[in-house]
Amino acid sequence: MSIERFHIAHSIDEALDLLAKEGSGAQILAGGTDLLVALRAGALDAGKTAFIDISRIPELSRLTLNGPDGQCQLGPCVTHHRIAEDAGLGRASIILGQASHSVGSPQIRRRGTIGGNILTAAQCADTIPVLLALDAQLLLRDTKGTDRTMAIKDFFPAPKKTAIKADELLLGISFASLAGKPWKGSYYKLIRRAAVAKSRLNFAVLIKTDLQGKVDEARISIGSTLPTPGRFTPAEELLKGNKPSIELAQAAADACSAYMIQVAGRRWSAEYKEPVVRNLARRGILKVFGLEQAPEESLEQHPEAQHGA
Ligand SMILES: Cc1cc2nc3c(=O)[nH]c(=O)nc-3n(C[C@H](O)[C@H](O)[C@H](O)COP(=O)(O)OP(=O)(O)OC[C@H]3O[C@@H](n4cnc5c(N)ncnc54)[C@H](O)[C@@H]3O)c2cc1C
Repeated sequence: MSIERFHIAHSIDEALDLLAKEGSGAQILAGGTDLLVALRAGALDAGKTAFIDISRIPELSRLTLNGPDGQCQLGPCVTHHRIAEDAGLGRASIILGQASHSVGSPQIRRRGTIGGNILTAAQCADTIPVLLALDAQLLLRDTKGTDRTMAIKDFFPAPKKTAIKADELLLGISFASLAGKPWKGSYYKLIRRAAVAKSRLNFAVLIKTDLQGKVDEARISIGSTLPTPGRFTPAEELLKGNKPSIELAQAAADACSAYMIQVAGRRWSAEYKEPVVRNLARRGILKVFGLEQAPEESLEQHPEAQHGA
C-alpha cells in the first residue's frame, strides 16, 4: 500500500471531515520533516493511503502568549523557527526556544512543527522534555467534534507510542506562562556534532525559588533515558525546600542517574549514560543555581560528548 491521495485542508473542520472520510488510511501531515523521511525510507505505518496536509490551517499556527488563566497556547503547526525567535514565548517558557533552536538545521526548523515533534514521539525529540517540565496540556479533537485535554506526562503510554486516537487531531499545546514569575531554567542537548544532529541525551530543568531563596518547585526531564518520556520525580523532591548549593545539585544529579537505572534497568548503554546523565543534570542544575563551575569539570571531558543549545 502507498500514498494515493494528497489533501490540503484549509480549516480544522475540513481536516476532521477528511480524517473521517479516509479512516485508518489517513496520515496527518504538518511540516513533513519526519513523514517524508519515513515515506522515502518505506517506513510509513502500514495501510496509510492519504496525506492530509494541515499546515495551511491558520488556527493551527496560532501563538497566544497570554490566554485565559495566564495560559500560553501554541497551535501544533507553530514551527521550531518561530518558537526559537519569539521573545515573548522565550519569557513564558524560559527554555522552549532553546530546545527548538537546537532542532536540525534552519531549513528543518522552518518546516518542522512542535506538534509533529510531539506526535513522532522520538526518544531524542528536543521539545518533549521541555514540555514535560512545563507541565503542558494537549488539546485533541476527534472526527465527531469531541474535545479532550490530556497532560503530556500521560501522552506516551509505550516507547515511541502516543495516546492520540486514529480519528483525532492535535489542536493545541498549552502551559502556564512563567513570565514574570520566580522560575529559572536550563536546557542542554548532548550531540555528536554541532548541527543537524539528533540528541544523544537532552536535559530540561525548571526551578522556582521562594522568597527565602529556597527551591519551591523543581521540574526535571531527560530525553533518551527512560522507556517513555517522563519526569525525574525523586530528584525534583530532593531539591524541594533546600537552599541552592553545589552539594544539592550533586545530590539531585546522583538521584537523576539512579532513577534512570531504577526505571530503565541496567541496559547495555548504562555504562555511558549513567555518568553522562549525572554530569548533564549537575551542570544544568548548577546553571539554574548560578553556580556554574570551571571548564575542567565540563561534559566535554567525556570522549564522545559535546553539548549544544
Ligand atoms: C535532517 C533532520 C534533522 C532533524 N533534527 C531534529 C532534531 O535535532 N531534534 C528533533 O527533535 N527532531 C529533529 N528532526 C525531526 C523533525 O524535524 C521534528 O520531529 C519535527 O518537529 C517534526 O515536525 P513536522 O511538522 O515536520 O512533522 P510531520 O513529519 O509532518 O509529522 C510527524 C508526525 O506527527 C503527526 N502529526 C503532526 N501534526 C499533527 C497533528 N496536529 N495532529 C495529529 N497528528 C499530527 C503526523 O501524522 C506524523 O505522524 C529532524 C529531522 C530531519 C529530517
